[in-house]
Amino acid sequence: MSELMKAKEYQSGIHPVWCAGCGNYGALAAVYRALAELQIDPANLVNISGIGCSSRMPYFLKAFKMHTLHGRAGPVATGLQLARPDLKVLVTGGDGDGFSIGGGHMPHLGRTNVNLTYVLMDNHIYGLTKGQASPTSRREMKAYTTPYGGIEAPMWPLLYMLTYGATYVGQAFAGDAKMCAELIKGGLEHRGMAYIHILSQCPSFNKMDTADYFKSIIKEVPEGHDVTDLRKAMRLVYKFKEKEKEPVGLLYKTQRPTLDDIMADLVKQAGGSKDYDIRKIIDLSHP
Ligand code: SF4
Ligand code: MG
Repeated sequence: MSELMKAKEYQSGIHPVWCAGCGNYGALAAVYRALAELQIDPANLVNISGIGCSSRMPYFLKAFKMHTLHGRAGPVATGLQLARPDLKVLVTGGDGDGFSIGGGHMPHLGRTNVNLTYVLMDNHIYGLTKGQASPTSRREMKAYTTPYGGIEAPMWPLLYMLTYGATYVGQAFAGDAKMCAELIKGGLEHRGMAYIHILSQCPSFNKMDTADYFKSIIKEVPEGHDVTDLRKAMRLVYKFKEKEKEPVGLLYKTQRPTLDDIMADLVKQAGGSKDYDIRKIIDLSHP
């Protein structure tokens, strides 16, 4: 990569197939923008997803990519990151994929601090399969699977990821491309597990949580918020939720050894070669 890349040059050439007005367009534009701001070489970028509307993102991005099984983007990304710690690993997906089918994986991405950036587009519904209640659906929402309203309270993904040890946690509304791009950029720069929660409307199947609804419930993280204080970040989420608001901005950021750091240390302790170089191994495999 010699010349400066513009945001649109990160487009793969495949046009998104999302419905008109879908929030995922905003998240995708923000990803392009963040990549251009960081001048990330597409040859060193891998976008991994599971299944769902937002999980189609890798098709639209100039990068190496894997469209994996439903909910399994996290484990695949972990394996890839450990095998190729030199690459930028970006995971993209939705609320159902991440917190229902793949919900068992999320704590482990956080607690092991895998060096990746997870952009989760939360539309409070299963869009691809045409409107079933998801783990973040409000109880009062009547969906295909809940015609009388939900029976479970929605989960709080931000609190969940803070609790389980993600080292960079932020939230933005998909309609605010600037904030989305800033958070994604910060996540890609961060060494460790970065979790970026994007409130993303699904106009086709979630008629309650519209773009206007999301706009009406968001409130920026107060100026002066100490992003290094985990308890303050958690309290902020509670406080906002009590007022039926969602905090947007960077909530938390800290540094802790990543899984690949710890594994490299273990290899050293076990007598592994200090000259181990994945690049040399890859070169050896070239014809
Ligand atoms: Fe977006 Fe919903 Fe259409 Fe899926 S169904 S592309 S989430 S608007
Ligand atoms: Mg969804």
